[in-house]
Amino acid sequence: MKCGICKAEMEEKTVTYTEDIKEGVVIVRHVPAYVCTECGNIWYSGTIAVQLEKIVDTLASSIGTEVSIINFTKSVA
Ligand SMILES: [Zn+2]
Repeated sequence: MKCGICKAEMEEKTVTYTEDIKEGVVIVRHVPAYVCTECGNIWYSGTIAVQLEKIVDTLASSIGTEVSIINFTKSVA
């Protein structure tokens, strides 16, 4: 896997994904992703991106001003 920005090698890692929703924040921990060793660019594979989107969508309607911290591996399993 090569980085789309700088063409360096990307490493398989788990990262913490955060997204602002209205006044709240969703934090998803332990998300499998590829991370560029040079520029830090993060790339999620197709299925992971879809699962992340579902988690965020589910929370978007109910989050209000809260901070939600989700464990990706548990929410998908
Ligand atoms: Zn890069």
